[in-house]
Amino acid sequence: MKKIITILIVIACFSCKNNQQDNGKLNVVTTTTMITDLVKNIGGDDINIQGLMGSGVDPHLYKASEGDVTKLVEANVIFYNGLHLEGKLVEVFEKMGTATKTPIALGEELDKRTLIGSDYFASNYDPHVWFDIKYFSQFAKKVTQVLSEKDPEHAVNFKANETVYLAKLEALEVKIKAIIETLPQEKRILVTAHDAFNYFGKAYDFEVVGLQGLSTATEAGVQDVQKLSAFIIEKNIKAIFVESSVPKRTIEALQAAVKSKGHDVEIGGTLYSDALGSAGTTEGTYIGMFEYNVKTIVQALK
Ligand code: ZN
Repeated sequence: MKKIITILIVIACFSCKNNQQDNGKLNVVTTTTMITDLVKNIGGDDINIQGLMGSGVDPHLYKASEGDVTKLVEANVIFYNGLHLEGKLVEVFEKMGTATKTPIALGEELDKRTLIGSDYFASNYDPHVWFDIKYFSQFAKKVTQVLSEKDPEHAVNFKANETVYLAKLEALEVKIKAIIETLPQEKRILVTAHDAFNYFGKAYDFEVVGLQGLSTATEAGVQDVQKLSAFIIEKNIKAIFVESSVPKRTIEALQAAVKSKGHDVEIGGTLYSDALGSAGTTEGTYIGMFEYNVKTIVQALK
């Protein structure tokens, strides 16, 4: 694998097709749609940005294409989530590191003592940190710092954009807290396809259960389905949720298992977990996605 990556990087260097624009602006490459949206908000018109992953793309399983490697080689700055979220890109990023271009793993910048531990990931931490708005605000500050170092001429603009964006994130926090408060404590149990919502649960006092565990790289077994269906019946849970970046058959199998035991559970809707909605829609932004998820969860569980 290591050899293939090196070869890809070499090929990309020789066949630089100028994917990136040569307009004097920083060329920034990002991975997930959440990070792409964040960096767009801070960088504004003063950067060129290319997000590798689109809407509905699962970052746990995403592999770099030859085109991606070219974009990465040509980039001035690379931002990614890290904490082994992008499990199959880690090696590529490690190869990319040079004195002038170090890919920035935003998750690695957080205070590790406050993160949720996990044995599953090589990082030893649950990587789904963007579901705590406080951490996403810290991402914003780091992005501002890095862009300002790389392009000091536009640092004033980046700082101004950061101020505006942080205020929006604060407003989002207030808004969703008010929505969640309408849901009684005993109904705050969130069952989804995989464990993306642990930070969300910690921040807003939900019990969170994912059918496939922390990564989609492992499939749910029959035993998991049986265990979780018994839990749903015992706790009298009204609804369970599909995720936009995970095939819905796993959640449908769970619903069928509950039904086979003579009970009923609704599919409460599709949540955006590891990817935002389509570009150009409200759910295609981090803020829109968060509000949509909270409204969907609260409405279905009430
Ligand atoms: Zn995930």
